[in-house]
Amino acid sequence: MTYRVHPLLLGEAEVPDMLDVFWSLSPEKGRSQVPILAFLIEGAPGGPILVDCGMRDPKRAIEVHRLGPHSASSDQTLAAQLAKHGRKREDIKTVLLTHLHYDHAGGCRELPNARFAVQRTELMAAAAPMGPPALAIGGKGLFYDRLDVAELVDPLWDRVDLLEGDCEPWPGLRCALYANSHTPCHQCIYVETASGTVAIVGDIARKTELNIDQEIPPGLYYDLEAMRRALVDIKRRADRVLPTHDWRVLEFEKGM
Ligand SMILES: [Zn+2]
Repeated sequence: MTYRVHPLLLGEAEVPDMLDVFWSLSPEKGRSQVPILAFLIEGAPGGPILVDCGMRDPKRAIEVHRLGPHSASSDQTLAAQLAKHGRKREDIKTVLLTHLHYDHAGGCRELPNARFAVQRTELMAAAAPMGPPALAIGGKGLFYDRLDVAELVDPLWDRVDLLEGDCEPWPGLRCALYANSHTPCHQCIYVETASGTVAIVGDIARKTELNIDQEIPPGLYYDLEAMRRALVDIKRRADRVLPTHDWRVLEFEKGM
């Protein structure tokens, strides 16, 4: 079975370029505007699938998570982006969450007919993150939004499917757990397409050329060794890598 993957642009954020390389070992000391993407997967027997669902509110990103400028234009909503592919929010039956950071799990409440699949231990980590309250960027929540976690625990709880490690929900569509990479229990989604195996990697990689091709871990990780192992494994398994915050991903559809 093969699937089709379409990136959706759900907002933009200004971030330090140093995040691209571990220990801030980057000559790039500036800031860049990056996309906040999600991915629509077509071709599954159970209906269209989303991988991640964007941020709840750009203002919360700045006020709650103490981050730089965030924005989402009227063209960058879930409804508007799905409409480009002839889909409505109600059509989505499954959301595979790579991890629960604010810019990946903020749109769950906008999907009335979806089930939400997340690693059980990622939900645990998101409920009790280790951010020191005085931390100037991230703070006590460490990029997990209390409202997203609260909604998954209740009222969305009956529609939450807790995953225990690697699984293959449908033939040719696999969830692979990379523990202690970008988050405690981040998963990558491998999708078989007509042009090979596509890896939707969330934030395990920020830039394909730098983090995957050159095997240089990015700046945000829990265990550097685990992060590097994840990158090497993704490089080995995937023909095409799609990070969440890389503009070059939007060229993907032209290459399919
Ligand atoms: Zn992210």
